[in-house]
Amino acid sequence: MLQDSFGRVATDLRVSLTDRCNLRCSYCMPPEGLDWLPKPELLTAEEIVRLVGIGVERLGITEVRYTGGEPLLRRELVEIVARTVALAPAPQVSLTTNGIGLARLAAPLAEAGLHRVNVSLDTLDRETFKKLAHRDRLADVLDGLAAADAAGLRPVKVNSVLMRGINDHEAVGLLGYCLERGYELRFIEQMPLDAQHGWRRENMITADEILVTLKDAFDLTDADPAERGSAPAELFLVDGGPARVGVIGSVTRPFCGACDRVRLTADGQIRNCLFATDESDLRGAMRAGASDDELAERWTAAVRTKKAGHGIDDPSFLQPSRPMSAIGG
Ligand code: SAM
Ligand code: SF4
Repeated sequence: MLQDSFGRVATDLRVSLTDRCNLRCSYCMPPEGLDWLPKPELLTAEEIVRLVGIGVERLGITEVRYTGGEPLLRRELVEIVARTVALAPAPQVSLTTNGIGLARLAAPLAEAGLHRVNVSLDTLDRETFKKLAHRDRLADVLDGLAAADAAGLRPVKVNSVLMRGINDHEAVGLLGYCLERGYELRFIEQMPLDAQHGWRRENMITADEILVTLKDAFDLTDADPAERGSAPAELFLVDGGPARVGVIGSVTRPFCGACDRVRLTADGQIRNCLFATDESDLRGAMRAGASDDELAERWTAAVRTKKAGHGIDDPSFLQPSRPMSAIGG
């Protein structure tokens, strides 16, 4: 079991398959992109499946989410998903993606056994998309969403980050769009995880602000809190339900006390928190010939030292040196 010193047990593994991306969302990375990890440093598909297998078969991981960077850029994705689903006991397997390429890949991924997908969509306006993500790809994202739905990867979940003065006027429109199509929308507060270190608290659209805006247009009532469990989203029924909307107040309403996550970076480092400032190197150990037992032990030790919370409000808070795209969001 992956238990930390506060008694929390990690069962949800987020795996970054690549730090590369075909968008440049300004809350994540600069327009010119980043120095991508050199290929030899990336875990191979074989290594990913071995480590995920150790997590699932020995360490109690029950959910595996593939992310990045942009996971659809990873050529072996369908194979990796199929091999993950085949582990015993079979974990829930999901994907967080910007949706570009999903129009082509949704059906093969569903066939490989993928259970669910989260697609990031911050705007419905082509010009705003270009401004926010520095690429003219909104149509591809919307096609990807529709393909995920058609492939049965339901409920299709949508993630939105609102930025002041850029897309914060779109909360109601985004929810309307998702309600019409049966997608489940979650707004995420912007976190200090961008490579440019440009996050400013005063520019962040808070969970409170989002809820005030939504409540002007929709009737929101608390969904059953028992359902939330360790999930970061506070869920609300929209206009009496069954449709729901989620708000993830990572900064203003932290949920660290219920956290059940652990992360594996694309270069094989275990991070016990998005905001951790240290990592444990499984790739180096694995390539030096470590056994599954030894890797499991290293992983367990890495989780044991997890801090109580992310401490964004603490004056001593330090933004992690790796951006979200490299950690795996
Ligand atoms: N490229 C994929 C995507 O965009 O969905 C997967 C990786 S991305 C890092 C995962 C999620 O993190 C996305 O929903 C994205 O909106 C979110 N994200 C990225 N940077 C963020 C930040 N600074 N604060 C809050 N969420 C962020
Ligand atoms: Fe790429 Fe996702 Fe980061 Fe946007 S949030 S730049 S899509 S990794």
